Amino acid sequence: INIKDVSTVFPSADNPFVAVDNVSLEIPRGSIQGIIGFSGAGKSTLLRNINLLERPTSGQIIVDGTDLTALNDEELRRARHHIGMIFQHFNLLNNRNAVENVELSLKFAGVPKKDRRRRALEALAIVDLADKTTAYPGQLSGGQKQRVAIARALATEPKVLLCDEPTSAVDPRTTASVLQYLSDINAQLGITTVIVTHEMNVVKAIADNVAVMEDGAVVEQFDIASLKNPA
Ligand code: ADP
Ligand code: ADP
Repeated sequence: INIKDVSTVFPSADNPFVAVDNVSLEIPRGSIQGIIGFSGAGKSTLLRNINLLERPTSGQIIVDGTDLTALNDEELRRARHHIGMIFQHFNLLNNRNAVENVELSLKFAGVPKKDRRRRALEALAIVDLADKTTAYPGQLSGGQKQRVAIARALATEPKVLLCDEPTSAVDPRTTASVLQYLSDINAQLGITTVIVTHEMNVVKAIADNVAVMEDGAVVEQFDIASLKNPA
């Protein structure tokens, strides 16, 4: 992922707000990138810039060699099938059970109906939810709900996984479990992973590289190895 000179300005009659201020960031293929900073720093907006959920006002987003900002709507729709996303509050549909939630993302990705059930069950097995496939979100713990959301993101076989405060709504023990799943998936499937968080312990546990955001700008970058083995 190559984020080049990206700015995102939210319009307002008297005082336009610069949420992302000329950010450039290169995220190596297969790595886990942490983006850390206080609330309001622009982390979530930058993450949403990567899949153009929030289109940057200027700059380029290059994923796997393709500049997403240059694509037309149909091309962008296809490119997004290779970018999974998970959220703080899971964003599951409460009136659909676990396997149906996952199948729905496969439907949107254009996967034929005959293949959806099998692929959804495979994705749920990766996050050890083979015994919860018919449970509704209201019957699952916070950690289990996030694992369904991870399965939903994985089912379309993404190259990139975007995680917006993935552990902020769960307790510390569940946080460790969710991070372990994300880390294992990164190691086994090689999915380039970006995690936005305000918690330093989260990036320390899982990230290869960290960018620190403040007032819309990346003010510092470091790799976790250097933090663990200071020169
Ligand atoms: P973070 O994820 O670091 O908490 P956000 O990216 O959510 O920060 O927000 C950065 C700033 O941009 C905040 O001040 C927020 O209020 C503002 N902002 C976010 N989305 C919008 C929007 N759609 N319209 C106007 N301002 C926004
Ligand atoms: P946590 O404390 O980690 O949030 P919960 O206490 O919510 O976990 O859930 C513990 C276990 O009970 C989980 O395996 C979950 O699937 C099951 N469970 C929770 N709520 C319900 C429910 N309403 N119906 C059936 N099973 C449930």
